[in-house]
Amino acid sequence: MTQAFLYDLHTHTSLSDGSLCPTELFSLAKKQGVTHLAITDHDTVAAYQSLNTPTEIQLIPGIELSTLWQGRCIHIVGLNINIKSDAIIEATVHQATARFERAQQIADKLSKVANISNPLEKALALAGKATIGRPHFAEALVEMGVVSSKEKAFRKYLGAGKVGDIKQQWPDIPTTISWIRDAGGTAVIAHPLKYKMTRSKLLNLVDTFTSAGGKAIEVCSGSQQKEATYSLARLCTEKNLLASTGSDFHHPGQSWALPGSQARLPEHCVPVWQDWH
Ligand code: AMP
Ligand code: MN
Ligand code: MN
Ligand code: MN
Repeated sequence: MTQAFLYDLHTHTSLSDGSLCPTELFSLAKKQGVTHLAITDHDTVAAYQSLNTPTEIQLIPGIELSTLWQGRCIHIVGLNINIKSDAIIEATVHQATARFERAQQIADKLSKVANISNPLEKALALAGKATIGRPHFAEALVEMGVVSSKEKAFRKYLGAGKVGDIKQQWPDIPTTISWIRDAGGTAVIAHPLKYKMTRSKLLNLVDTFTSAGGKAIEVCSGSQQKEATYSLARLCTEKNLLASTGSDFHHPGQSWALPGSQARLPEHCVPVWQDWH
């Protein structure tokens, strides 16, 4: 019966660093056969505020929050949240300030290292109504002719360990999970393998996460290998976690991460949506 449904619980719109507006995302998701969709923009729920609720797709309110844990940026997805709750208002206000201060610092670093003037103004203009992030700086660096592609901008200036990789503004995991739980939602570790941690480090992260009230991990994320899915499914069983699934869709041009294109959850996983009504 579950197989009749297609869940995608991790997608982005132009209100963060995706390229489609919510309505365009719905059309694409519907075309892809998605029946249950969560928009999980980075640190904002603005997509839900400008929305004509679609009738054919069930919408699950969500968000992807940036956190800081042991010097790394870890993404925690909040699903089935009340977007009008005080907790989500507090979270999004906090993260908007953090993102703006971080953007100023990224701009300072870039102007020194890449010797370019006013990258903040350019990135803010490119972000428009979206939450500002490194992808907007990547785009600005391309437009200014500093690099030839966004990928190169990340490789040289913005990716892990580079000058523009600034993360000290992010809240810790317990604070983040409290926001999600106070908003009635379920906290999920996003794309657990993207952080490229050792297994013991990942177990350590899971312990911090579950001690703070986190409930689920993304077992299927984007276009990962089968072995990765099985390994994460095993982690779920060992640690008594619920399983989530999402494409992490950003752009229609990225055929490996279209809405609903991620693998199906292994049969023995307990889906994160089992207790939602
Ligand atoms: P931020 O939220 O500002 O830290 O930006 C993180 C976002 O940048 C991620 O969610 C991705 O969408 C994007 N991103 C991260 N690394 C890369 C990369 N190497 N190339 C292109 N985009 C990236
Ligand atoms: Mn992103
Ligand atoms: Mn993420
Ligand atoms: Mn994401």
